[in-house]
Amino acid sequence: MRILNAQIRNNAELVDIQIEGEKINSITPSSLRSETDNRSDDYDAAGRIATPQFAEAHIHLDYANTEGVPRVNTSGTLFEAIGIWADRKAQGFHIKADIKAKALAAARRAAEHGVGFIRTHVDVTDPTFAGFEALAELRDEVRDWCEIQIVAFPQNGIYAYEGGDKLMIDAMTAGADVVGGIPHLEPTRDDGVASLKWLFDLAEKHSKPIDVHTDEIDDAQSRFVEVMAAEANKRSMGEQTVVSHSVAMAYYSPGYMARLLPKLAASNIRFAVCPNENLHLQGLGYNGPIPRGVAPVKQLTEWGIPVSFCQDSLNDPFYPMGDADPLRILDSGLHVSHMLTANHLDTPFDFITTNPAGNLGLADYKIAENTPANLLIIDAPDEKTAVQRKSAVLLSIHRGKTVISRQPAEVKWGL
Ligand SMILES: [Zn+2]
Repeated sequence: MRILNAQIRNNAELVDIQIEGEKINSITPSSLRSETDNRSDDYDAAGRIATPQFAEAHIHLDYANTEGVPRVNTSGTLFEAIGIWADRKAQGFHIKADIKAKALAAARRAAEHGVGFIRTHVDVTDPTFAGFEALAELRDEVRDWCEIQIVAFPQNGIYAYEGGDKLMIDAMTAGADVVGGIPHLEPTRDDGVASLKWLFDLAEKHSKPIDVHTDEIDDAQSRFVEVMAAEANKRSMGEQTVVSHSVAMAYYSPGYMARLLPKLAASNIRFAVCPNENLHLQGLGYNGPIPRGVAPVKQLTEWGIPVSFCQDSLNDPFYPMGDADPLRILDSGLHVSHMLTANHLDTPFDFITTNPAGNLGLADYKIAENTPANLLIIDAPDEKTAVQRKSAVLLSIHRGKTVISRQPAEVKWGL
């Protein structure tokens, strides 16, 4: 097929994108096309933006659409959610076929919003491995329209949960793509540090990246992010290391931040931040002023540290909302991070395209000749407008095939 009159980043003029099989064959200025050159499989982008498919770098597909069973989260807190989740597993509600169907529904929802790549954390602190097996099957079955990476995630800890370390080894042996962790949930600070060293060893042994729920707690004393950076540095694994959430950074003192940020930048680690969900979960129980509970994305970005904006949860004990829509998360993330300034609004898609693609280690993630044709047409003339209007994804193509398409919304005025 051929996409005509598309606006791609850093290009002054509109282009025609020719797709052959799974790849982009050529990109040529639209002005060079003759008016009589019309083909039946042409798609006219009419000056709208073409962008690589969105990448969702932090989501929990195995939790999706489970809200209310075995009970609703009445306090709204993260720690009540973790308790409900443990009860759900213990009470026999965690069943492979059910998890898979619910995760598929969530993945489809993401795809409808233009997501072509997902990194999902999957809870492996469950001896039945129901969630892991469900997601491993799903990973294979949806490969044509969405590339899924599975993080082996010890939701209840590797030491706090008896046998958690053994389950992590089993998950990596069984084909998990990434090592996960949750140091702030381990019994003590020392156990948390030990868990990180153990998890980095595991990642090195399997030659896999590491992506850890780090300091997701309203506690300025939770400082595992510095351990993540130090271990990544020591092992030259910065590019393969992702710090997820890092909520406690929002509570760190300026003095500690001044010492921390250069170390983070020097270690080459990356971040996955989930603004909507952490705005909901953090600061509950505080009287005003209520802290934001979102990692300091602006400072991280200004230090050159790549940050991705991510969904985290959909309709589960942790978060009753969520639509796997990267543009919605990006809008919130830019607002809460005080980033509605021209230098950030020119290229806001970095947070939902190139940065998460880097977290996932995706090669050839760009719109260029001889790269896989994974791209979107969005109903907007530029990225800022797309965020401002939460513009629709009109066309999503994965490896040369149309995943979804939709017509631009039509508004009829009555007056
Ligand atoms: Zn998470």
